[in-house]
Amino acid sequence: MTARILSGKEIAEQIKREVAEEVRGLVEKHGFRPCLAVVRVGEDAASAVYVGSKVKTSEELGMISEHHHLPAETSHKEVLKLVKDLNNRDDVDGILVQLPLPEQIDEREILEAINPQKDVDGFHPINVGKLSQGQKSLVPCTPAGVIEILKRSNIPIAGEHAVIIGRSNIVGKPMAQLLLQENATVTICHSRTKNLAEIASNAGILVAAIGRAGFVRAEHIKTGATVIDVGINSVSSAEIAKELFGEDEIEKRLNTIIKRGFTLVGDVNPKEAKEKAANLTPVPGGVGLLTVAMLMKNTVEAARRRRGI
Ligand code: NAD
Repeated sequence: MTARILSGKEIAEQIKREVAEEVRGLVEKHGFRPCLAVVRVGEDAASAVYVGSKVKTSEELGMISEHHHLPAETSHKEVLKLVKDLNNRDDVDGILVQLPLPEQIDEREILEAINPQKDVDGFHPINVGKLSQGQKSLVPCTPAGVIEILKRSNIPIAGEHAVIIGRSNIVGKPMAQLLLQENATVTICHSRTKNLAEIASNAGILVAAIGRAGFVRAEHIKTGATVIDVGINSVSSAEIAKELFGEDEIEKRLNTIIKRGFTLVGDVNPKEAKEKAANLTPVPGGVGLLTVAMLMKNTVEAARRRRGI
C-alpha cells in the first residue's frame, strides 16, 4: 500500500481564503477589521519564527495584528499588566501569548489572565471546560486543524477507533475531546501506556503528538489507517534521516541537512508509514500549516462572538 499524502498546504490555503472573505464581509457590513495581539517574551528562535508567521498571515488576510515583543528579563508583573491592558482594549479581538515563557514568568497565571472571549489559543480553563462539555468555545488551533484535515479529506470519523499518542494540554487532550465530539471511539496513550503498539495498531485514525522523531513505526500502524503526524522535531544526523526516509525523499532531506544543518521530521517514520497507512500527513507541510490557519479562523470567530455579530 502507498499512502495518500494529505497536503496541509491546500487545506490551509482554502481555510485562509474563507477567513479573508469573512474579514472583507466584516469590513463592508460592520466597518471593522479583527485585531490579533501577539505577545512574545525573550529570544527563543522557534517562537520568533512562529510569531512572525502568525503576524504576517493575519495581515495577509486583512486583519490588524500587533506584535508585542518584550525583552527576556521582563517581569511576571509587566507581562500580566500587558495582558490586562489588551483585555481592556475594545479594538483587540484576540490575544495570544507565545509559549514557552522565560522562567520568572508564571505561565499558568498569564494564560488564566487572558479574557476567555479573546483567548484565540483556547488554553484558558473556561474554554477547556467548555470544550469538554461540548459547548461552543475557542478551540486549540492544532487539534482543530487536525479535524479540518480529516473532514476536508473526506475521512470518516464517527464510529472509528481513534488513538492519540500524547496527552498534553495543547494537543493530546483537546484532540481527544474533538474526536469524541465527532463520535469517534477515543483512546489516549502516553509515556506510561503498556502495550502501546498493540493499542495503536487497532486505530483507524492514529494521531501522534509525542515530540520524538520517527517514534511511530510499522508495528504501531494498522494496514489502511489514517495517520496524522503532529510532531515537529529537527534531525541533523544523516544516519537517522536514512532510517526515516525512502528513496523518494532521502536525497532532498540530506541536502537540507547540508544546507541548514537540520531537517524537520514528525513523530512518525514516514518510510514505514507510507507502506502501511492509507492516508498520512507530511512533516513539514501537514498539520503545522493548519495551526496558523485555525488561529486566523479563531480570531474572526472571537471578533464575531465578542461583538455579537
Ligand atoms: P509534550 O511534550 O507536552 O507532550 C508529549 C506527550 O507525549 C506527553 O503527553 C507524553 O506522555 C507523550 N510521550 C512522550 N514520550 C512517549 C513515549 N515514549 N511513548 C508514548 N507517549 C510518549 O508535547 P506537545 O506540546 O503535545 O507536542 C508534541 C509534538 O507536537 C512536538 O513535536 C511538538 O513540536 C509538536 N507540535 C506541533 C504543533 C503543530 O503546529 N504542528 C503544535 C504543537 C506541538
